[in-house]
Amino acid sequence: MKSTTGRNFLFVPGPTNIPDRVQRAMMVAMEDHRSSKFPNLSTSVLSDLKRVFKTENGQVFIFPSSGTGAWEAALTNTLSPGDRILASRFGQFSHLWIDMAERLGFDVEVLDVEWGEGVPLEQTEEVLRADTRHKIKGILACHNETATGVTSDIAGLRRVMDAVDHPALLFVDAVSSLASIDFRMDEWRVDLAVSGSQKGLMLPAGLGILAVSDKALQARESATSRRCYFDLADMLATNASGYFPYTPALPMLYGLREALDIIFEQGLENIFDRHHYLAQGVRAAVTDGWGMELCAKQSKWYSDTVSAVMVPEDINGTHVIDVAFRRYNLALGAGLSQMAGRLFRIGHLGDLNELMLMGAIAGAEMALLDVGAEVTPGSGVAAASNYWRSHDPIPKRRVSKEEQFYEAHSTGSVQG
Ligand code: PLP
Repeated sequence: MKSTTGRNFLFVPGPTNIPDRVQRAMMVAMEDHRSSKFPNLSTSVLSDLKRVFKTENGQVFIFPSSGTGAWEAALTNTLSPGDRILASRFGQFSHLWIDMAERLGFDVEVLDVEWGEGVPLEQTEEVLRADTRHKIKGILACHNETATGVTSDIAGLRRVMDAVDHPALLFVDAVSSLASIDFRMDEWRVDLAVSGSQKGLMLPAGLGILAVSDKALQARESATSRRCYFDLADMLATNASGYFPYTPALPMLYGLREALDIIFEQGLENIFDRHHYLAQGVRAAVTDGWGMELCAKQSKWYSDTVSAVMVPEDINGTHVIDVAFRRYNLALGAGLSQMAGRLFRIGHLGDLNELMLMGAIAGAEMALLDVGAEVTPGSGVAAASNYWRSHDPIPKRRVSKEEQFYEAHSTGSVQG
């Protein structure tokens, strides 16, 4: 029997739990998005998002879509039909972006990598080195592959591109890393960074967010892919005065304002540290407690926002998820595509703390026991507790550059 009291435990890797402050900020009456007041809100969120992407030079765009829309905006605004793209595939989301690029008519060279690993730097370097005529116009990389719990080394990818002096545009999917795992758009010279609202930004799904470098904005001028709804030209023309080319998702923008306030109050660097600390506790539960393996093959790939737990061969991961949901009101992430049934995922990003995660670990453990897995009752919780009790959430309290900047420039929330 499903428990009908208390809250649903939402531990999928997005959508994530929404802080009460953000929920309240979205409870607003509709208003005229062409009023003289509206640009206060829109310009403040657009400029503050730049700090989350760590870009001074880039420009941020917000679409009323999900992350998938921002994928499409990135590709169609900067490339022309038939352009060659290099992309590695190591999970369902890197696959879906490749699939979209193929369906949009680009010529995608795919590096297939075992699921559980990330962007293959050596192989990428070989391909780029051989491309002496610079036919490759874009490189796609999924920073955090949510399907497998793998984080790739984007700084390393940029080093590889620089080593061979390759001029392709660097496209990065930061959907499940932004505001949770360090992302440095300017430092890594990312040209197009794609994200969405329902993960580290702690909002409902509904905003596709895209940060674009100067170089990518220039590429736009000669890119002939057909585009309409996602055309940056319309955004550029209207955003300049604080408006949108169509009706914006107004309550979401108020929610975003509040979420950004929370992020800068906490400090981006502290948020990254907290995500790492919480993730380490979950990983301890999985490996030290339950004696199971993560899908991520090596610790260098471990994701601080999601852990994909490989279940023993005689256990079906889908049953674990089903029992967790029906019996314990706990939502875990499913194994996708080739990982269906072989794993379940625990999302640990956004507005979370140790005890919330304890609930998820305990619930997953009960579901594992219910479907016949050989785990020692209490072992996951004990291992996580050992980790968290002996480590500081934020090793050294740092005041980040973003925080200092925010403190110096903050004018407070925009009022609804
Ligand atoms: N990229 C990654 C890494 C994701 O995790 C997701 C969704 O979970 C997407 C892209 C697609 O985003 P959306 O579902 O917001 O369209």
